[in-house]
Amino acid sequence: MRPRRISGGAPGSPGGDVAGGEGPELAEGERRTVAGGSAPATTPRRPPDPLPLGRVAVMSETYKLPDLSYDYGALEPHVTGKIMELHHDKHHAAYVTGANTALEKLAEARDKNDFGTIGKLEKDFAFHLSGHVLHSIFWTNLGPDGGGEPSGPLLDQIGTDFGSYDKFRAQLNQAASTIQGSGWALASWEPASSRIVVQQVYDHQGNHGQGTLPLLAIDAWEHAYSLQYQNNKASFFDALWAVACCAGVARRLDSAKGASIPVK
Ligand code: MN
Repeated sequence: MRPRRISGGAPGSPGGDVAGGEGPELAEGERRTVAGGSAPATTPRRPPDPLPLGRVAVMSETYKLPDLSYDYGALEPHVTGKIMELHHDKHHAAYVTGANTALEKLAEARDKNDFGTIGKLEKDFAFHLSGHVLHSIFWTNLGPDGGGEPSGPLLDQIGTDFGSYDKFRAQLNQAASTIQGSGWALASWEPASSRIVVQQVYDHQGNHGQGTLPLLAIDAWEHAYSLQYQNNKASFFDALWAVACCAGVARRLDSAKGASIPVK
C-alpha cells in the first residue's frame, strides 16, 4: 500500500485543457496533426492557427485520477484496503481513461465530419465523466478520522430540508439500498430552489436532476463492497457512516451555495 496525497486542484475538476495543454513539447514551428495529415512534421514558423480546418490538435489528457489523501487500508475494518486499491486504481482509473477517450473520439468525429457513432460517444462521455466526478467526491467523503456528525451551516441546512440528520441518513441509505442494478445515492445542492436533495442515480448519470451539485456520494456498485460484504450491501452502507467525513461535505455545500441557475 502506498500513502496517497491529494494532488493539486479540486477533485473532479478538469486536469488540463482539451487541446494543447500538456502534450509533449513541440519544436519551434512544429505542429500537431492527426495521423495521416498532410502537413509535414516541421514547417516554417507562422502565426498561431489553433484549429485549422481539416486538422485537429492532438489532445492531452483532460481528466486525471486524483490521489487518495489516506492509505488504502485506512478505512479498515469498515472497508478493506484491497477494495480501496482495486476501486481507486482500477475502476476509477478506467472512468478517467474512458472520459478522455470519449472526448478524443468526439474530436475525431468532428474533424472527419462523421457522426455515425455520436449516440454511443455521447453516452460514453456522460457515463465516464460522471463516474470520474462521483468517485472523486466519494473518496473525499471518507477518511480514517470520519464518523462525526455535521455542525454549523451544513447541519442547519440538513435540518431545514430533511428534519434531522438521522432522517437525512435514512433517506440516503434507503436510496442506496434499493437501486435496481448499479448506481449511487447522492446528496446534492439544488440551486434552483436552494435546498439539499437526495437522488438515486442509475449507473453514474441516469435519474439525475440537471443542475444539481453533488455534495456527498455513496457508491452502490457491487465493486464497492462485494469482496467484503458479499450481497449484504445494506451493511456496507451502514458501515460507511463510521468513516464518513462531514468537513468535505460542508466545504462543498459552502461552495455550491454560490451557484445559481437562471431558470427565472
Ligand atoms: Mn465505484
